[in-house]
Amino acid sequence: MTLYLKYRPQTIDELDLESVRSQLKSLVSLQDKLPHAFLFAGPRGTGKTSAARILAKIVNCEKPVKTKDGIEPCNKCAQCKAISEGRSMDVIELDTASNRGIDDIRVLRENINLVPTSSSKKIYIMDEAHMLTVEAANAFLKTLEEPPSHAIFILATTDPEKLPITVRSRLTTVQFQKATAEEVARPLARIIKGEGLDVEDGVVEIIAACADGSLRDAVKMLESLVPAGDKITKKTAEDMLLSTNLINVEKLLESIMARNLEPVLIEIQKFIASGGSARSLIDALQALLRDKLLADPTPETIKLMKQLFEARANIAKSFAEELPLELALIEWIGVEKVQSKKKAPLLDSFASNGVTNVDPEAWTRILTETRSRNVSLEALLRTARPLTVDGNTLSVAVYYRFHKERLEAEQYRRMFEGVVGEVLGLASPRIICTLEDPPTSIKEAPPASLTQTQETDIIKAAEEIFGE
Ligand SMILES: [Zn+2]
Repeated sequence: MTLYLKYRPQTIDELDLESVRSQLKSLVSLQDKLPHAFLFAGPRGTGKTSAARILAKIVNCEKPVKTKDGIEPCNKCAQCKAISEGRSMDVIELDTASNRGIDDIRVLRENINLVPTSSSKKIYIMDEAHMLTVEAANAFLKTLEEPPSHAIFILATTDPEKLPITVRSRLTTVQFQKATAEEVARPLARIIKGEGLDVEDGVVEIIAACADGSLRDAVKMLESLVPAGDKITKKTAEDMLLSTNLINVEKLLESIMARNLEPVLIEIQKFIASGGSARSLIDALQALLRDKLLADPTPETIKLMKQLFEARANIAKSFAEELPLELALIEWIGVEKVQSKKKAPLLDSFASNGVTNVDPEAWTRILTETRSRNVSLEALLRTARPLTVDGNTLSVAVYYRFHKERLEAEQYRRMFEGVVGEVLGLASPRIICTLEDPPTSIKEAPPASLTQTQETDIIKAAEEIFGE
């Protein structure tokens, strides 16, 4: 048996997400007024199925235990044991991913009127409920509208918005979210204690940083470290979880410090594509950078550290989790050099029929307005160069292909067009991105200029780029 199943929570108090514990406690306290249909919604690996089984046990337990703040299953009676072992006749677990059609729901509807064999309620746990076909969901809706009094439904899903609103509106939602580092540490502590593992301080933190809020992934990672030796050391954890499997963080930091932008971006893309988490990569980079910082604090190391903090904070606001990290590194490696060469002639000076250059002041307003809506997009635009306005079309130049792709992605393009329309007073604005070689100042700025502490305030940055 995997450790995740062996140490699966058996009571509400053992569940690892604090907010889920409190939501379930207040629901269970309703007792006879307990709703008959639930939606357990949230990211994968956060304990939805475990919570569903616990709820099923509380409902069918022969001797439920009253605790100081709620009710728990006894975990000793025949009902509890059968449910824990997945062999209760009255708790039916359906994997909706493979039973998603109208016929499966028809069978469910036929059986549902049979009273439970040995317990008070029949409980249907439907995993991956968003996989139901539209026809199946509509057929299921009829059951939800007139449920037999002996039935309880628990639908679990990572994508609640894919369920028809008519179905969702009849369900009582329990919201799961990514586990915090402290919450991830809970199941790890249970297992370390239960299995008598010898684990060095700091290992749990490394796992928490890599697990990206998934309790199941965290337990799997710990499990993968068990055969590595008698004692699980920080070194082993770092080697196995951070470097060997997905990326060599030390080498990446070396490339960053050497300001080799292209290999850095390629490595990050590869890491993300192979399933790595940007959040844990930033954590790992910061852990290594911290050693450098303490050994030899320079203004540029301090600045890089600060930019990594900013990137980490912006992950939640970005549509692609690696984008804030990429932008932080592009800024640190590239744009700083552009800024250091003041009064660079960045604006083309040609103007012909109906084509005008972008007024620097207007561009600054576009950036400021964008920043108030989305800091990632604004950071992206700061590394772009406005070219011309032709009718309702604004042309901008960017230096990297993936940069262009980002700006042209639906979500960003729409937002950018909205701001451009407002600031420049264009009716239905369009954006054209063109790819061009980076200005020589990016490639050839003398390293000496990098040690200056630069003001990153957006207005000042724009003044420096355009001249006052
Ligand atoms: Zn029981």
